[in-house]
Amino acid sequence: MPKARLATVSLAGCFGCHMSLLDLDEALFELAELVEVDRSPLTDIRTMNDCDIGFIEGGCANEDNVHVARLFRKKCRLVCAVGACAVTGGIPALRNNIPLAELLATSYLQDVVDPGIPNDPELPMLLDKVYPIHEVIRVDHTLPGCPPSAQAIALFVKQLLAHEPVSLPYKELHYD
Ligand code: SF4
Repeated sequence: MPKARLATVSLAGCFGCHMSLLDLDEALFELAELVEVDRSPLTDIRTMNDCDIGFIEGGCANEDNVHVARLFRKKCRLVCAVGACAVTGGIPALRNNIPLAELLATSYLQDVVDPGIPNDPELPMLLDKVYPIHEVIRVDHTLPGCPPSAQAIALFVKQLLAHEPVSLPYKELHYD
């Protein structure tokens, strides 16, 4: 059976969800029997083929995040928002109650040695707030958690590949 292609990306996230994927340890070999990893921080591949599954970690905080999220929507049959930041905006969305101009002034102009808001044309423009992925593109599945456990990610992938309804046991979905 041909392997499924999996792409992953971290947008406005902390890479913790990717670290959780790596926490599969030796079970990664089992996963590698099922999937070929395409564009991903795990492979450092920057171009992107058509994929079966796209995992997006993090929400959209800038224009480049929006561009990449749209690319994943175009290239991936199933797009999955993985982790609290992708699902709700998460920690980066704590800035959402502060107007962008005030945020930039506080960060770059007040009480700093060399005041100045970064304006290099290569820097992506910040959005007015941090958006969860489903507010930018259509999302097929969500996997909550900060981060989702390695076991939850493995089960999630297996259910997607088996075309089964995604259903995780309670112990993978409570965090106290
Ligand atoms: S959900 Fe948690 S672990 Fe994942 S990117 Fe956000 S802060 Fe990091």
